[in-house]
Amino acid sequence: MQTERLTNTPAHIARAASLLRAGECVAVPTETVYGLAANALDVAAVAKIFAAKGRPADNPLIVHVLCVEDMMPLVKELPECVKRLASPLAYVTEQNTLRTPQGYKRLPKSVAFFPGPLSVILPKSAAVPDIVSGGLDTVALRIPAHPLARAVLREAGIPLAAPSANRSGSPSPTCAGHVLDDMDGKIAAVLDGGECSIGVESTVLSLAGDVPELLRPGAVTAEQLREVLGEVRISSAVLSDLSDGETAASPGMKYRHYAPKTPVVLLRDSSESYAAWCGANDCMALCFAEDAQYLRVPCFCYGGREDYDAQARLLFDGLRTLDESGFAPLIAAHAPEPIGVGLAVYNRLLRAAGFRILDV
Ligand code: AMP
Ligand code: MG
Repeated sequence: MQTERLTNTPAHIARAASLLRAGECVAVPTETVYGLAANALDVAAVAKIFAAKGRPADNPLIVHVLCVEDMMPLVKELPECVKRLASPLAYVTEQNTLRTPQGYKRLPKSVAFFPGPLSVILPKSAAVPDIVSGGLDTVALRIPAHPLARAVLREAGIPLAAPSANRSGSPSPTCAGHVLDDMDGKIAAVLDGGECSIGVESTVLSLAGDVPELLRPGAVTAEQLREVLGEVRISSAVLSDLSDGETAASPGMKYRHYAPKTPVVLLRDSSESYAAWCGANDCMALCFAEDAQYLRVPCFCYGGREDYDAQARLLFDGLRTLDESGFAPLIAAHAPEPIGVGLAVYNRLLRAAGFRILDV
């Protein structure tokens, strides 16, 4: 199959939408990573996603829609808290200050999470085919904010199942070039929308149990969710490997993930100790800006030590770039603190490294 290269023009958006309506797979940019989209209500179309990615059948897909109203036919019922996640908590009174019923407070980074990088899991309706939910009785739903993703959704007029547009197990794509590296010839088209602004996949929040549970960290943080929802539990799978026989709340978390072909190890230490370890081993460094002056090995800087947003944006490009360079047989990644968006970066690195963490 010849993969069509589409760009941000009305004719190409219409082409992407018509391919999707015809049951084809099209890679579409979102603010998180590129998604491999297909009609979520068409079993044969969704099967093409699993085939192109080599994705295990029990790893469910996130369904993308335009607005909260479009979620309704896909779920048993919409809990009240979904509306709270969708609407601003209060209004901005002056720069960076909110007036809430409790008084004034600092403006959180985002007050409404829809549209945005948050997927919610809810009991599914019969409209959602089992292939989408990997056989579970729940479905993950997201309202993307990226203008091109929204234009395609609007034009296609159907909900779109869209996992990350990479080969299963490898780092997620944050530009059209990454998509083509993995998917050229396997999918109908890729819509090029430039680089993704966030760079890691959406936060996955289950609302199917008694207490909201964070299954996968992302740019919407646990701290931000607690501002709106009160108690939010963090799944043990976020920071640890599942032992054999344990069932995964989020099936995606049990697979080797986000990993380049070159093995990865994680290090957490000062710049000097990290650089010393790298110097003593045949490796390439995925490092912080602060480390570069000490390093004598090939390196890719993915942001400042505490610049978690930059790390998220550049993480997968860094892993792919080092992998392709072939300079050394090992990638030594300097891991951030697992707080805020740093938790999302740490979670991806843990899996890319197969949980190999070295204490220098
Ligand atoms: P991806 O689309 O590649 O970002 O992967 C989607 C992620 O969402 C995977 O980790 C899935 O396991 C998770 N997910 C999707 N649907 C569900 C669901 N119904 N229950 C739990 N996790 C889900
Ligand atoms: Mg993925």
